[in-house]
Amino acid sequence: MIKARATLGIGAGAPSGGSALALVPTMGALHEGHRSLIRLARERAAHVVVSIFVNPLQFGPTEDYSRYPRTFDADLEVCQAEGVDVVFAPSAEDMYPPDRQVGVSAGEMGSVVEGEFRPGHLDGVLTVVLKLFNLVQPDVAVFGQKDAQQLAMIRRMVADLNLPVSIVGAPTVREPDGLALSSRNRYLSPDDRAVALALSRALTAGSALRAPAEIRRAALAVLEAEPSLALDYLVLVDPATFAEVGDDHAGEAILAVAARVGATRLIDNVTLSLH
Ligand code: AMP
Repeated sequence: MIKARATLGIGAGAPSGGSALALVPTMGALHEGHRSLIRLARERAAHVVVSIFVNPLQFGPTEDYSRYPRTFDADLEVCQAEGVDVVFAPSAEDMYPPDRQVGVSAGEMGSVVEGEFRPGHLDGVLTVVLKLFNLVQPDVAVFGQKDAQQLAMIRRMVADLNLPVSIVGAPTVREPDGLALSSRNRYLSPDDRAVALALSRALTAGSALRAPAEIRRAALAVLEAEPSLALDYLVLVDPATFAEVGDDHAGEAILAVAARVGATRLIDNVTLSLH
């Protein structure tokens, strides 16, 4: 395994097929969810690069950039155990020189749902992902469905900017009690963690139903029963556009939730098939 803290000299335009290269972008503090992405990448490509970069551009001024967990040595062990070929861990200074001017705009789709509560977040995500694609030049890149709007926006960027990368979405890995794994879960006290379970419980309650209004009502009832949970949003949206679906919607929809438990903000979602 090669560890690159600053730059990485992978040859341009890695050939596809047997020697295809897959990229798994992460912010580190690796857990089983990240491991599942790495395994999927290994199924899709002969070589796997994991990037570890806490991207300052996707954090708002009052968010947790400085206290985001950084566990580089443990992350390297995870990557080694999963057979990762290269870990790419650039510094913020290398990624963003002070005279930087140009970035990616997530457009209107980047200002709804997560974008409404985290202005500029999806611009920051798309900018770093495009830079990682250009630096690593992967044939395939794997992202988790856990960050559903991020995944949808990356697919949009690849289509709108004609990027030569195949995007693979990976299912959300959960604890046995339903809590979606997240690097931020380590902030939760035992009491917080019990409260946080309302997110997955709400999604399960909504998943049992088929009519959009009933789905929203059932999921909201679960969240409202937990007074120490501060809800940012609960939405039922079109998976491709993240626009709210109407009552006559047929096909797939994403039920997505974001809420704060103490100082920790958590997101989760589930894909439903409505007919
Ligand atoms: P992060 O390090 O949080 O930026 O996440 C890196 C990648 O891992 C993203 O594509 C996430 O969607 C994905 N990811 C995070 N949590 C999970 C999870 N519980 N299951 C599957 N993928 C996940």
